[in-house]
Amino acid sequence: MLPAWDEAEGSARAREVFAAHFDGEPTGVWSAPGRVNLIGEHTDYNGGLCLPIALEHRTYVALRRRSDDAIHLFSEREGSAWQSTLAEVAPGAVSGWGAYPAGVAWALGELGQDTGGFDAAVASCVPYGAGLSSSAALECAFAMAFAAAPGWTGPDPDTDAGRAELAGACVRAENEIAGANTGGMDQAASLRAHAGHALLLDTRDASVRHIPFDLTAAGLELLVIDTRAEHALVDGQYAQRRETCEAAAAALGVATLREIEPADLVAALDRLDSGVARRRVRHVVTEIVRVEQFVTLLQTGRVGEVGPLMDASHASLATDYEVSCAELDVAVEAAREAGALGARMTGGGFGGSAIALVPAGSGPTVAQTVTAAFAAAGFTAPAFLAATAAAPAH
Ligand code: ADP
Ligand code: MG
Repeated sequence: MLPAWDEAEGSARAREVFAAHFDGEPTGVWSAPGRVNLIGEHTDYNGGLCLPIALEHRTYVALRRRSDDAIHLFSEREGSAWQSTLAEVAPGAVSGWGAYPAGVAWALGELGQDTGGFDAAVASCVPYGAGLSSSAALECAFAMAFAAAPGWTGPDPDTDAGRAELAGACVRAENEIAGANTGGMDQAASLRAHAGHALLLDTRDASVRHIPFDLTAAGLELLVIDTRAEHALVDGQYAQRRETCEAAAAALGVATLREIEPADLVAALDRLDSGVARRRVRHVVTEIVRVEQFVTLLQTGRVGEVGPLMDASHASLATDYEVSCAELDVAVEAAREAGALGARMTGGGFGGSAIALVPAGSGPTVAQTVTAAFAAAGFTAPAFLAATAAAPAH
């Protein structure tokens, strides 16, 4: 199991990296969690519902503002420095990992909030590219650091409304500066989730509800399986799905696929002439219904009954949305064979992670079974972590 650092360790690491690469002391350390989505996949750019939790795994940023507009960054994980100036940051103008933090500064600047230049060191225990949103963790930790500046008049991180605005700036950073056309789930989870709760995010109006998510009381635990699968063309596939959904919504005369009532789904599908578009729309509309059903089960103390919804979500993503892959399919099947109540891919797909809801204490045996199935299939060994609903960025 991939351990999460505790607050003291994460802060100490970020400070050490800062000390190794900059003179003097950082002003402070800010951190933000990765996330895992319980259900509601590929719905966030369709005005739909999703239900992520913040992970205990966090990215820590030790930061100090500069008096000029230079940006000097160092990431322990990357093992490299990244340098630019605020003036240079613009869509299409910067690349590399520093585009995420620099993009947040740029997006806040677009809101009229000048961050100034900054020196910052990054340390993280969020697995990279595992579908657990290390990118949002990075952005959101910087957003919190910027918002802590003396005299800051921008979005207030002590309110949910302020956090929603900061999340919006982080989304712009990711979309417009880092060039990844992702929806808003990741940043909302990292900034707006509550410990012990899943975050029901309605991406139609960015409103949230906090749904108690207590697996321990139900004798359960959530196992994250990082498939370590790396597939080419992931970004292109993601953009294609998004385009197909937007085109289908336009063809159906609605702003987003969220506007299609489940009762009208069959009629809507009849009006689409491409089989691919029909399948994509069916996934989105049925997935939003599954989120609602999942939430109802959580709210009525029936978390032990969500397994079939997870399984149905996976099937829909694999068959209708076509974003699963062999590694994800093997992971969920092996987990179910080992006793998981339900399992599904989570995140964008084509690799990344799966989640399995398992009886408390059985995580290690389920992990063993999955590892054996991966070995038998000739895949790279997977990694595992235990997911508990943790605190947001601070
Ligand atoms: P995910 O968000 O699922 O982990 P992404 O591809 O969206 O995957 O984001 C991963 C990218 O985010 C990395 O390639 C890197 O550019 C950036 N990133 C994330 N965490 C860090 C970090 N600790 N240090 C530097 N860059 C990071
Ligand atoms: Mg990401």
